[in-house]
Amino acid sequence: MVGSNQVERIALDIGFHACGVSRVERLGALEGIYSNWLGNGYHGSMSYMERNFELRLDPSNLVSGAKSVISVLLSYNTGDLSINIKPPRIARYAARADYHFLMKRMLWEMLNQLRECYGKVNGRAFVDSAPVFEREWAVRAGLGWIGKNSMLINRELGSYIFIGELIVDIEIEPNARMERNRCGTCTRCMDACPNKAIIVPGVIDARKCISYLTIERNEPIATGEVANLDGWCFGCDICQEVCPWNRKAKKVDGLAQGTKTFEGISAMQLANLSKVEFTNQFGNTPLSRAGYEKIKRTVELITGGKP
Ligand code: SF4
Ligand code: SF4
Repeated sequence: MVGSNQVERIALDIGFHACGVSRVERLGALEGIYSNWLGNGYHGSMSYMERNFELRLDPSNLVSGAKSVISVLLSYNTGDLSINIKPPRIARYAARADYHFLMKRMLWEMLNQLRECYGKVNGRAFVDSAPVFEREWAVRAGLGWIGKNSMLINRELGSYIFIGELIVDIEIEPNARMERNRCGTCTRCMDACPNKAIIVPGVIDARKCISYLTIERNEPIATGEVANLDGWCFGCDICQEVCPWNRKAKKVDGLAQGTKTFEGISAMQLANLSKVEFTNQFGNTPLSRAGYEKIKRTVELITGGKP
């Protein structure tokens, strides 16, 4: 069996900030929780979440002969707060090149190195791109706990982190210890959420969540809903900003490979961009997920057309 320390060393050398390993097994305990969440309609119009239920529960359906899930974390806690200070605000993770591409490249590199060290390894890399319960695997790998705001919280890195996985067919020693939930009696995230979208600890009604309203919902935002956006035009960081674990979290210099942020962008700049300019400037960032028309409309609603 391959030692988890060796795998962690490879991950850290590539530039990930943390790595852990868990054994592949069916996530039977999540079945009821997830179907209740869907049954309550908390996913809104994100119908893709209803699909591939069985794949989500059992990663051996994703990689033939899968034995281990390697979870990795990449912090984006670079301390660049200015994009959040003045409306229209952008969630921190979106203020840089799309993390999917960067993390996928890093995970493929890791898979290559595993092959160099351990011979034939069948595996696949996942970053939000397939039906994988990534937070649950990260918890099982000892990388943190799921906070009342439903985010994965790592004791050192906080929750401004991207999560990725390599599911492989080699047996790697799993991490021996899971992190205990360290939220304790704190309820700051639940109290701070402007729309009370955190229904009970760890459960979000996406239909009320600003991230969903500004990014995922198919239906356009109505004029009467502007107050619900609390000044955000893409995503929302409130329930992470108030979290004490982020206050003391380690800052990182920048994401690997020098991806730059667009710290300091103003409402005026966003509202006045043409579609071509938007694509040139933000085409490779997560903002393109919502798209030009949606962001422009949201910015105009927030600023009353006067950025
Ligand atoms: S992201 Fe914002 S709206 Fe969504 S649960 Fe957190 S605080 Fe509430
Ligand atoms: S704000 Fe408090 S309750 Fe919410 S996730 Fe952070 S520690 Fe947990």
